[in-house]
Amino acid sequence: MASSTPASPLSPSPEAPLLLTGLTTAQIEEFVAALGLPRYRGRQVADWIYRRNAGSFEEMTDLPRALRHQLAAVASVGRPEVVARTVDADGTTKYLVRLGDGQTVECVWLPYREWSSVCLSTQVGCPMACAFCATGRGGFARNLSAGEIVAQFLLARAHAPCPVTHAVFMGMGEPLLNTSAVLQALHLLNSECGIGARNLTLSTVGIVPGIQRLAREKLQINLALSLHAPDDETRARFMPVAQHFPLPVVLAALRDYTAATHRRVTLEYLLIAGVNDSPAHADRLADLVLGKKEEGGPLLAVVNLIPYNETEARFRRPSEEGIRRFMARLKQRGVAVTRRLERGETIAAACGQLRREAASDAPGARPRRSPRRRGTAVART
Ligand code: SF4
Repeated sequence: MASSTPASPLSPSPEAPLLLTGLTTAQIEEFVAALGLPRYRGRQVADWIYRRNAGSFEEMTDLPRALRHQLAAVASVGRPEVVARTVDADGTTKYLVRLGDGQTVECVWLPYREWSSVCLSTQVGCPMACAFCATGRGGFARNLSAGEIVAQFLLARAHAPCPVTHAVFMGMGEPLLNTSAVLQALHLLNSECGIGARNLTLSTVGIVPGIQRLAREKLQINLALSLHAPDDETRARFMPVAQHFPLPVVLAALRDYTAATHRRVTLEYLLIAGVNDSPAHADRLADLVLGKKEEGGPLLAVVNLIPYNETEARFRRPSEEGIRRFMARLKQRGVAVTRRLERGETIAAACGQLRREAASDAPGARPRRSPRRRGTAVART
């Protein structure tokens, strides 16, 4: 039987156009060289994609027209199609985008006073099934590639009216169930898109092997744990992951992570009335952060409180007084605590909601019920 050398993943093929947004400049040079072209053409293409916001080969006007057509036949710049867009009064802009295979995911541009950020999805749907999350209720379809993750960033940046300085992996999906693609996307955002490692944040529900891998990589990114409860019993009521990775194991992995990276981790805590917002919960949370001596002492962490945004009838937001009391109790115990600045409230910016709405607007879908929606403006494009 004749043997054949397997094609390099960077070999040009008209059957499967290569998504260039998943590649470094050096890899794009290699791809272009495989087409018989000078390597500097690859540098030009990468420059257009990563630094000049080109959404198609046609926009790369310093490339000969014939070359643009040649590239378009075997590669893709990866700019996804915008299916719907919502803009909040505070400027927060949420995009529902269609990928090459027709699947849709969300990404969000978030403006702040002196900087702006993009929230990225890492999976189509999510298998983690957190009860408070619209994405979790929609099930899981597939992982995104690094190129599909970076393409969301490039799309949002191309539409942003000011520089984008940060990126957060907090959109649809659990990033640490797609670790290889996420690590490549982090690398590309840092080295190709110019986002400093300390301006990159990855949020996980606590996938221990993924946290251990991040610790080995020693990246200087920000790691956030979606904690949301100070004990496994409470957590398991709305986060099935608690049955797979108990908190003592997750906390041990976080301690190893902080020891390896010297980076403080963030413990995200969604405050839900009557579920996890009592003084006893605050005390247990403080115990968890301060740690026992035999557990390794205090965890290098800050607690970030997120009052629940009432977009579903199932859970309620605590009163302002209740939120302040919870925060004060943590501070009294010596825990570093912040409260998340809430953005995009009028467009239901929690992940997965726009996608669910688009699905329920499809012909034949049942009408949706959504309490307390205010001023939502959905532009279908
Ligand atoms: S909160 Fe995150 S991990 Fe949980 S279901 Fe939603 S997308 Fe998945």
